[in-house]
Amino acid sequence: MKVAILKTRHSKLKAMAEKQIQVHLPDGSVRPVADGATPYDVAYAISPRLAAASVVARIEPVHTSGSPAALAETDGDTKTASEAEMYTAQAQGPRLVDLATPLHEDVRLQLLTEKDTEALKVVRHSAAHVMATAVLELFPETKLGHGPATDAGFFYDFYRPTPFTQEDLLAIEQKMGEVVARDEKFVREQESREKGLEEFKTNQDFMKVHFVERFTKPGEEISLYRNGSFVDFCRGPHVPSTGRVKAFKVMNLAGAYWLGDEKNPQLQRIYGTAFFSKKELDAYFARLEEIHKRDHRVLGKQLDLFSIQELAGAGLVFFHPKGAVIRKQMEDWMKDECIRRGYDLVYTPHVAKINLWQTSGHEGFYAKDMFTPMELDDAAYRLKPMNCPFHILIYKNSPKSYRDLPVRYAELGSVYRYERSGTMHGLLRVRGFTQDDAHIFCMPEQIEDEVVACIEFAQAVLKTFGFTEFKVELSTWDPKDPKSWAGSADKWEMAIAGLENALKRKEIDYRTIPGEAAFYGPKIDIKLVDVLGRLWQLSTVQFDFNLPARFELEYVGEDGERHQPVMVHRALFGSVERFFGVLIEQYAGAFPLWLAPVQMGLVPIAERHAAYGETVAARLKAAGFRVELDTRNEKMNAKVRDLTMQKIPYVLVFGDKEAESEQVSVRVRGAGDKGAMPLADFIAQAKQRVESKSIEL
Ligand SMILES: [Zn+2]
Ligand SMILES: [Zn+2]
Repeated sequence: MKVAILKTRHSKLKAMAEKQIQVHLPDGSVRPVADGATPYDVAYAISPRLAAASVVARIEPVHTSGSPAALAETDGDTKTASEAEMYTAQAQGPRLVDLATPLHEDVRLQLLTEKDTEALKVVRHSAAHVMATAVLELFPETKLGHGPATDAGFFYDFYRPTPFTQEDLLAIEQKMGEVVARDEKFVREQESREKGLEEFKTNQDFMKVHFVERFTKPGEEISLYRNGSFVDFCRGPHVPSTGRVKAFKVMNLAGAYWLGDEKNPQLQRIYGTAFFSKKELDAYFARLEEIHKRDHRVLGKQLDLFSIQELAGAGLVFFHPKGAVIRKQMEDWMKDECIRRGYDLVYTPHVAKINLWQTSGHEGFYAKDMFTPMELDDAAYRLKPMNCPFHILIYKNSPKSYRDLPVRYAELGSVYRYERSGTMHGLLRVRGFTQDDAHIFCMPEQIEDEVVACIEFAQAVLKTFGFTEFKVELSTWDPKDPKSWAGSADKWEMAIAGLENALKRKEIDYRTIPGEAAFYGPKIDIKLVDVLGRLWQLSTVQFDFNLPARFELEYVGEDGERHQPVMVHRALFGSVERFFGVLIEQYAGAFPLWLAPVQMGLVPIAERHAAYGETVAARLKAAGFRVELDTRNEKMNAKVRDLTMQKIPYVLVFGDKEAESEQVSVRVRGAGDKGAMPLADFIAQAKQRVESKSIEL
């Protein structure tokens, strides 16, 4: 039926049109079509399947600007559209239009299908219209605000004196289903601004009146989108019809004041999400649930690992005993590895006089990220935001010769940085944290080997803590703009070559990002990929031409002359707190045996087995294990359940039979009851697993 109508339309267009326009397609071909043909017509002429799969079109008039690259995808830019973007017509450059937009000039045309993130945004914004349609049908007294697409879906702001209830939200979702089933066309209409304003004013649509007045000028036409009897002031574009909103869900409700001012009426913002298919929608919810289950803030509380205390301040982390055990394992491993890999461990103060921060330059370019100064009787002091100047002072404290290099100082150094209130997030964004920081001072010809060693060390961290996948980025300077960077061109080239060669030697795939280096030198960032495929920026290896110059660092070369060493900053966990947070989420709190705060939970079946329990506990502790003996007067099953809830790797149960034969009955986390085995064998096996840092139990 639809096809037939279209064909008639086609022939009509052909008959009508004397003028032709040229449509340039992404494959380089050019199609002549009748003036007034739409992107849908073009798609249909290529193939009816393409027409059906197309969601929206991107066009750019051919005469205005040059390269076809301008039409290239904007690389999944999923920023929330600003209000202005939503209403103001875009004057230049490529723009998204409805498939039904008549074309009247030569254009480059790209048809966006369901493979496109931008097409998804159009679906989501269309879903917002569907939601508003449903709300007005159910609650006609409601006034409309605006309804943009967001990163995760869409929302619509409504004004209605009565609050929406959970039942209302369900009813809205159901009604949306009806609007979708009606498959109403989204029709764009142009109207004079004055007429539009009058209509919105008559309807007491105060928010629409505001948007029209704010984002259009007198004398202009405004665009309205209609589906069925619903009309919205909107720039578009939209999907062809409501039936294209195939998979959606109403999520939740939040309050917001109109224009953010509490003197204004309170609006009700309803959030929803939409996807191209039910399958994608289901996957999204499964993932949300998984992310929530793994949330380190939730698990940190549930497993009593850490807290952040209102009385002490935001962004300051308290490691509770169980979290402290894990931190000790992380730190011990790190320190031992540093020593094994030729680093010297150092400790440095938490505060220093402002003079030091002036010499280092932090007082200038980093001051806004530091805690404000503390005035003492002799000078003003600042908490350290970085450890570098301290390690430099140790280097400078005695003369160095080329034979001493490389000098590698490592420290688990606690630093304090000012983050705005309200921006802190669990362990991930804090005001006080501990870096596994190291600074390497070396000769230029040693750079490459040092960087290779840093990469190997970073890989060892990832492997040891159970991560298999990572992504590497090399950030370099912009040689066309040498004034923005410290250090000469030859220094930059040498440093970049050193980093590149090191990555090549390790056969590591990496992405080069020009212009993204710190002003003082190029860097390598290693981002790990967790079990949910999320990227976490942790390790970094960073060059520095700036500090050695500021502190006038030297070494005496083989030639007897004084030279300036090269300096490398590197952190592998990045921040101990942040890495701990990532570990909690990676393992969903079920840590590998070597990291688990309590490795074995002991459950005597009856009170008379308590004495044997003491023996087992003593034997395990003597073998170096962390154990918890549950002597509560509870049923065995209740004890097993409680210990299992704590995600303890092994729960050992024993009664008469086990006590007589020096056995334990072993329940393995996630694998159930493995039956009885001699205590000595269990100890030997568990020891082996701890030593190999096995992820398996
Ligand atoms: Zn719209
Ligand atoms: Zn540093």
